[in-house]
Amino acid sequence: MKTMTCRALGGPCDLEHRGENADDVIKAQDRHLKEAVKAGDATHQAAHDEMKGRWRHPKKSMGWYRDAKQAFAAIAED
Ligand SMILES: [Zn+2]
Repeated sequence: MKTMTCRALGGPCDLEHRGENADDVIKAQDRHLKEAVKAGDATHQAAHDEMKGRWRHPKKSMGWYRDAKQAFAAIAED
């Protein structure tokens, strides 16, 4: 398992997401952003909008996914 923070995935806080692969932590971050915004947390709004844009324009967002995957690969296992 590896740990990546909300901040490392483009968000504003240090909440930690744990997962076996990059997709796990990206999905966890997506969930976290949705929940934070739903709860009225304005600091997560921008990151939430960016993430929503990524799902809508996957081709344009390949660079971001590649970077996130590389960052995940570079982290040491817990
Ligand atoms: Zn966060």
